[in-house]
Amino acid sequence: MKLLIIILIFITSVFSEVKINLSHKNIIHGSTFAVILQSDIKLSQAPNVIFKNKTYQMFTIDGNTKKYELFLPIDYHTIQQKENIQVKYIENKKLIKKNIPINIVDGQYRQNEIIKVPKAKVTLSKKSKTRSNKEYAIVYKKVYSKISSKNLSSKSIFGLPVKSKITSAFGNARIYNGKTRSYHSGTDFRAKVGTPIYSTNDGQVVLVMNRFYLGKVVYINHGRGAYSYYCHLNKFNVKESQTIKKGDIIGYSGVTGRIMGPHLHYAIRLYNTTVDPLQYGKLYNTILNKYH
Ligand SMILES: [Zn+2]
Repeated sequence: MKLLIIILIFITSVFSEVKINLSHKNIIHGSTFAVILQSDIKLSQAPNVIFKNKTYQMFTIDGNTKKYELFLPIDYHTIQQKENIQVKYIENKKLIKKNIPINIVDGQYRQNEIIKVPKAKVTLSKKSKTRSNKEYAIVYKKVYSKISSKNLSSKSIFGLPVKSKITSAFGNARIYNGKTRSYHSGTDFRAKVGTPIYSTNDGQVVLVMNRFYLGKVVYINHGRGAYSYYCHLNKFNVKESQTIKKGDIIGYSGVTGRIMGPHLHYAIRLYNTTVDPLQYGKLYNTILNKYH
């Protein structure tokens, strides 16, 4: 009996295999990639991924302890670099570390989008600066710093917040009133005041707020580090801590915050990094179809 057990352990350790797949070989700065780990045997604990000196816990795919996933953001300002991710897991009581190289490539975003906004919203008064900083602290505390390990969108694919024309893509480098430079951290959709705006997936409303730059904004937690938010709204249609389904009306578009004309600014933050929201949705849906 003892011998049989020893033989069995030997066989499983020889033939047990862990496969790690990345969604991309070349990853555009400002976008998201996925790490998938598949094992022949159940893992006793969730693997970790180390990327740029930060440790992220992988999450099971549908509760299966043989399959894990992780979506990771590439910061917009990280351009053309060779990086490594390290995947760490325990197999047969041994800690295994695997290094996988990744290439971060230039997204070739538009370089000179010229934006005109009211002067007071570019050169901030002391009062506005204090307000803006306070707002960020609230949002960080209530939203960005919290990572729920549960996938709140689960089996539902990401959709669009409104069916209309995209007027400004994610990543465009921007010049405000001829000076302040930044980049466009979301996707803009044409939407006249009062257009219904839909949640792009299942989740929970975590914050409803009127912000200096973003105007009236709704934040939705989708779990596992991902939040979507919908800005410049005219009116809210949801309350904090409310559970919502993809396609529920979260509010109506407007012209609040730092903008000149009405539109919807739709954004996604993953581990407190703004990423291309449409690319994130597409990747999420691909992984859902392929591995779930
Ligand atoms: Zn925008």
